Amino acid sequence: MGARTNSISEVLYEEVAAVDTTEIIKLKATAQDEWKPQIVWRNVILFTALHIGAFIGLYQLIFQASFMTIIWTIVCQVLSELSITAGAHRLWAHRSYKARTPLKIFLMLTNCMALQNDIIEWARDHRCHHKWTDTDADPHNIERGFFFAHMGWLMTKKHPKLKEMGGKLDLTDLTSDPVLAFQRRHYLPLIGFFCFLFPALVAVYGWNESFFVAWYTACIFRYCSSLHVTWLINSAAHTFGYRPYDQNISPAENPWTSFTAIGEGGHNFHHTFPYDYRTSEMPLFLNFTRGFIDVCAKLGLAYDMKVVSKESIERQKSKHAERKHG
Ligand code: ZN
Ligand code: ZN
Repeated sequence: MGARTNSISEVLYEEVAAVDTTEIIKLKATAQDEWKPQIVWRNVILFTALHIGAFIGLYQLIFQASFMTIIWTIVCQVLSELSITAGAHRLWAHRSYKARTPLKIFLMLTNCMALQNDIIEWARDHRCHHKWTDTDADPHNIERGFFFAHMGWLMTKKHPKLKEMGGKLDLTDLTSDPVLAFQRRHYLPLIGFFCFLFPALVAVYGWNESFFVAWYTACIFRYCSSLHVTWLINSAAHTFGYRPYDQNISPAENPWTSFTAIGEGGHNFHHTFPYDYRTSEMPLFLNFTRGFIDVCAKLGLAYDMKVVSKESIERQKSKHAERKHG
């Protein structure tokens, strides 16, 4: 295995990162074909309203917003994405590096702007996704189709197998984190302010943008587009691309989604080496999140970044090639 320079306990390490192959085989063998997802109509209505609002926001972004508002909307988009990629994903779900409290607070607050459930819930769902990929215990199981993996899973009730298996995960590393406990305790007011008010207020008080334009662009359009960028990793990066590290899994290397999701599209690498903080071997312009974590490390805010050794990666690739040609 690669260099593991952290002090994470072996048990927790297994919990966080390991693929549960035995269970995956069992889950696939006992999959219930007759199970039909139950639609949650409240979420269908909310997502429909959000998309109508996002189209209004897109129109305003193109025809009515000031230059500063356009730039600010992009900044909010990047902050929302970073809170997922560097925060909920690489820091908390995978523990692929460690962060000092100021960085944790920054990522937790911007995570409220991103509004994708609180970090504890996000990380639990994501750990299920890695441990039991492409089975009923994977929240966005690609076997149920592109749309289900993209956003359909958020408009249906969880599969009983996901509830059962997810309930077995030890999440004490997350629930004992005071920054995450604070987010969970005050989640509603935090998302109300950071997702739906703060981005608009900055534009209104910063450069006299109208509240109407600022709200539809920096809040609604930005929220909706940041959701799709994340969702594309679960749908597109599990469907399209090449698989140089493991040809037997659905996650693929997908540079387009890596660009839009600031570094998360090296998905064949990531599912093969989930504890590597870089999540891919792609260059920096396709992995802005890695650059962000590196800068944080230089500032003393991030440390103990886990990296798989080059030899391990090459060994994995050559095994893959052997299987392919042998
Ligand atoms: Zn995945
Ligand atoms: Zn992951």
